Amino acid sequence: MTLISNWSNYPVVDTKINSFSSAKELSNKLNDAQELIIRGNGRCYGDASLNENIVSCLSFNKFLFFDKVNGVIEVQAGVLLDDILKVIIPSGWFLPVTPGTKFISIAGAVASDVHGKNHHVDGSISNHIISIKLMLADGQIISCSQKENVELFWATCGGMGLSGVILTVKFSVKPIKSSYIAQTTIKAKSLDEILALFEENKDATYSVAWIDCLKGGKNFGRSLLMLGEHFKNGDKKIKLKEPFKVHADPHLSIPINFPEFALNKYSIKLFNTLYYHKAFTKIKESIGHYDGFFYPLDAILSWNKMYGKRGFAQYQFVIPIEERKGLEVILKKIQAKGMGSFLAVLKVFGEQNNLISFPMKGYTLALDFAIQDKLFDFLDELDKIVLSYGGRIYMTKDSRMHKDVFWQGYPEAQKFVETIKKYNPNGRINSMLSKRLEIL
Ligand SMILES: Cc1cc2nc3c(=O)[nH]c(=O)nc-3n(C[C@H](O)[C@H](O)[C@H](O)COP(=O)(O)OP(=O)(O)OC[C@H]3O[C@@H](n4cnc5c(N)ncnc54)[C@H](O)[C@@H]3O)c2cc1C
Repeated sequence: MTLISNWSNYPVVDTKINSFSSAKELSNKLNDAQELIIRGNGRCYGDASLNENIVSCLSFNKFLFFDKVNGVIEVQAGVLLDDILKVIIPSGWFLPVTPGTKFISIAGAVASDVHGKNHHVDGSISNHIISIKLMLADGQIISCSQKENVELFWATCGGMGLSGVILTVKFSVKPIKSSYIAQTTIKAKSLDEILALFEENKDATYSVAWIDCLKGGKNFGRSLLMLGEHFKNGDKKIKLKEPFKVHADPHLSIPINFPEFALNKYSIKLFNTLYYHKAFTKIKESIGHYDGFFYPLDAILSWNKMYGKRGFAQYQFVIPIEERKGLEVILKKIQAKGMGSFLAVLKVFGEQNNLISFPMKGYTLALDFAIQDKLFDFLDELDKIVLSYGGRIYMTKDSRMHKDVFWQGYPEAQKFVETIKKYNPNGRINSMLSKRLEIL
């Protein structure tokens, strides 16, 4: 048995972990009567890819097909976005949607139906998938897409690995004219201002704001809005030396867990003040490599150790666009509690009404909290506010919500469960998350 946890280092479980590198090996594992869950690169924060028996898909990681003319690629489940970028960028293509880390598997991206900074224009990863091959709990291999085995497709995108094991994913990539991003950073003095700026810049391809969640008074909600466009080599009379430069591997790392006192409301306030003032002027324009724009945290391996031995909880919710008051109420509650977060990331989602995916047209805020006494009671209080404004919590980030919060937040939960029960009737594929939320 091995002690294992996902990115937030909570919970830690004693599990048996295996892997497969062929479909045959996987079907043998599924034939063993034991319940199991498939794991990608463990970048979900909580218990979605944990159970007593885990099967990793990271060794099932071959590139199968890449059409460089039309921008279509097919890879096995365990291929990381990190590797896909290295292959597609030199030919002038980029991921259609990418989360804030490239160290996730393509299967993990599908199972969480991940979103990026361009959700308001491009939707989530499921919008770009051509087809998926799955192995069901009984060993049968089946294809699904928006046209074929449609209900299985929608139960798989965002379905947290419960509909079957994703074997391969075929999807479209997007053309780029360089691997650089033209970035505009705008300082906003308050919550009202940042929300107005999002609205004014709704046509920007990428947008994301960092928000100082500990600032009160007239500067409550002060933020930095980061907008981005793929840079066209030659624009603004700039000729890039290596227009399709690929990212380098990270070499910085946090070797040990920080002591608990290292992160407290004073250190977070100091960080927030310095970070906010790093933009000297109201508007700053720059051209930078995609790695710094999309994946700033990937530069430091194991940054999750910063939160100490007890780990942390990432709290990400979405509330409908017309309920912006909810955002204010939640931020005020966090500020009053003094339980701050370095990472308070605000994005705007566009329309999305998938079966079980997280996004809906609205505001989404992600916050990290070091685990401390009474944290979960506090997050339970936040859950009630989120629900009262018609919102929900992102399962892939979660390690603690109560089942009712899931069932109330996801209006199609019942239909989702009925669908996965058709394909995974004995709950052979099951996770701690699914049991906690009483999905299977
Ligand atoms: C720094 C950081 C930033 C992030 N930013 C974002 C963001 O901006 N947007 C966003 O949407 N997410 C974001 N995430 C979350 C992350 O993208 C998801 O949790 C993703 O699912 C992790 O994939 P993984 O390969 O690590 O899989 P794991 O974490 O191991 O598993 C995640 C889920 O995928 C399932 N799964 C894995 N492999 C398979 C398979 N072969 N078949 C079926 N199911 C499978 C698992 O069972 C589990 O339910 C971020 C995470 C980190 C650490």
